[in-house]
Amino acid sequence: MKIIRLRAGKERSLLRRHPWIFESAIAKGGGDSGETVRVESAEGLFLGWAAFSPASKIRARMWSFDEKQRIDAGFFQASIAKAVQARTRFDIQSNGVRLIHGESDGLPGLIVDRYGDTLVAQFTSAGVERWKEAIADALLAETGLSKLYERSDASSRTLEGLTEQTGWLRGDGATDLVLQEHDWKLHLSIATGHKTGFYLDQRDSRQKFASYTQRLQFQRVLNCFCYTGGFSVAALSGGAGHVTSIDSSGPALELGAANVALNGFDASRATWLDADVNASLRQFGQEGRTFDAIILDPPKFAPTVAHAERAARAYKDINRLAFKLLEPGGVLFTYSCSGGISADLFHKIVAGAGADAGVDGFITERMGGAPDHPMTIAFPEGEYLKGLVVMRR
Ligand code: SAH
Repeated sequence: MKIIRLRAGKERSLLRRHPWIFESAIAKGGGDSGETVRVESAEGLFLGWAAFSPASKIRARMWSFDEKQRIDAGFFQASIAKAVQARTRFDIQSNGVRLIHGESDGLPGLIVDRYGDTLVAQFTSAGVERWKEAIADALLAETGLSKLYERSDASSRTLEGLTEQTGWLRGDGATDLVLQEHDWKLHLSIATGHKTGFYLDQRDSRQKFASYTQRLQFQRVLNCFCYTGGFSVAALSGGAGHVTSIDSSGPALELGAANVALNGFDASRATWLDADVNASLRQFGQEGRTFDAIILDPPKFAPTVAHAERAARAYKDINRLAFKLLEPGGVLFTYSCSGGISADLFHKIVAGAGADAGVDGFITERMGGAPDHPMTIAFPEGEYLKGLVVMRR
């Protein structure tokens, strides 16, 4: 059994059950990639069991704080069972569900989404990579499903010294699927889409947008960073007259148009622009175009706190431009999915953008990720997605 010994005082976050051990916290010891190590304080007291990751700044990630716990196939089966069971108690109006959300489910580096009868997994840490076969077996056993596709192509794998791996891990079948979310059907591709194919985390916000559209009867909607048009379909189902959707990904836009058709909406109610959002917002401003509702759901501008400053400027820019296009009484749904931007900071950025645009607004909702992307008390980093709904005064 291998041991890592921490520097004096570095046990504090572990005593609060935070799951990460940084390189700088370790005094001595180590292991192979993904190997289970016993973690001890500077005084030699047992702290927990962790997966060692020799290439990563996050040098070890905790599996358990219980000395009697054995890290074996049974451990993974039990952890997966617990996560799957928790989803049955969350309010999820979809057959697309995030079953495992990494650290929040006690499995650092593991993401598993279920789309109908197909599972899609991302292994992004050395620990879960090492236990991949046991995890795959447990996933099938706990869900009763037989198809598991791997999308281990996230850039974070490089930080762990791992290479890309994609393809069927168990069973096989179609990779172009149709998801049922709320009242809508949505095409997705688990082989070529972003992440595991779809942004399940915005499920509740899409529903919220549909109900705002219905209540406030938005006529002109602008969906920025639309991906495959989830919010666009939500807008049309709420009765929006016309939705303009912008994304820089051609294949995503194609699926967006297909999604409008799949849900029986007339294609003339939707315009799809393969363009840069920032440039489009500026152009609309010059043309004097305005909208009743705008969605801003950009990609992660700040993966970590180190990128926060530059990202803050980028968020402020698009929010300022969007505010200027908003009709009085119009509504902005604005988001950040950057772990490096706190909810507080995001609020300040949006406030600054409003001030620069000369626009004030009522904050009518604070949004977060859907409940199957949970955060836990011990792992505040789990709160990556934040949103504000702002109604122009
Ligand atoms: N709202 C979407 C998810 C958005 S993800 C949903 O509900 O499914 C962010 C999207 O921004 C991605 O589809 C990506 O292709 C797009 N994107 C990234 N940078 C962009 C840019 N500069 N201009 C336009 N789109 C961009």
